[in-house]
Amino acid sequence: MNLETRKEQLDQRIINAVNRIGRQPAEIKLLAVSKTRPATAIRSLAALGQQAFGENYLQEAINKILQLADLELEWHFIGQIQRNKTAAVAENFDWVQSIDRHVIAERLSAQRPESLADLNVCIQVRMSKEAGKGGVSKEDLFALAETIATLPRINFRGLMAIPENTSDRDKQRLAFREMNSLYKKLKTLHNTVDTLSMGMTGDFELAIEEGSTMIRVGTALFGPRPKIQP
Ligand SMILES: *Cc1c(COP(=O)(O)O)cnc(C)c1O
Repeated sequence: MNLETRKEQLDQRIINAVNRIGRQPAEIKLLAVSKTRPATAIRSLAALGQQAFGENYLQEAINKILQLADLELEWHFIGQIQRNKTAAVAENFDWVQSIDRHVIAERLSAQRPESLADLNVCIQVRMSKEAGKGGVSKEDLFALAETIATLPRINFRGLMAIPENTSDRDKQRLAFREMNSLYKKLKTLHNTVDTLSMGMTGDFELAIEEGSTMIRVGTALFGPRPKIQP
C-alpha cells in the first residue's frame, strides 16, 4: 500500500470515529510520527497536505528539519528529553510534548530564542506504573502545570499520554477517560490549555471517542517501522 492510500484510509477512520460520537473531524489534529522515516517520506506526506510531524530522537530530527527547511512544517518533539539537550530542542521545534520535570520546562523557557514564537508545550503524564518510562505522575501534574504556566516564552497547551501497552480495550478506555478528566480540570485552571494528545496507531479510535484532540500516528501512515533505529 502506498502513502497516499494509507493517508486516505487513516483520514476515513478518523471521520468514522468522530461520527460515532458526534464530534467534528476538525477537532482532531493529526500528528504524523516520522521517527526512523527518511526525509523523502516526510516530503511525500507533506505534499499530500500533512503539516505536523513528530520526532523522538534529537539528532535524527534535526537532520531532517534541516533537509526540509524549504517546507512550512510544524515540528513536535515527543521523545524523552535529556537535560543537556534542551537548548537544541528549544531552538529547533515548534512544540514539545514530553515535559515531565520542572527543570526541563525551566531550561526550555530560558533557552527558547527570542526570535522564535513561544514554544508550545504539553506535559507528559504517566498513566500507570506499567506505562513505561517518562511522564509525570498524576499526583505531581498540577504543581508542574503551575510552574509551566508562569514561565516566559513557552505556551502551556495541555497533556500528552502514552498508555500501557495492553490489548485490554476496557482498560485502555478507562485510562483515556481518566486522562480526559485531568485535562478538563486543567482547562479550568489554565486558559491556554486546548490539547489532549493521546491515541496512536493501535488505539486512536478509542482515544478519539474518549476526548483526544491530537492523535500521534506513525505506523498507520508510513507502514511498519524498521526494527533497527538509525
Ligand atoms: C512512536 C510513537 C508514536 C506512534 O506510534 P505508532 O504506533 O507507530 O502510531 C506516538 N507517540 C509516541 C510518543 C511515539 O514514540
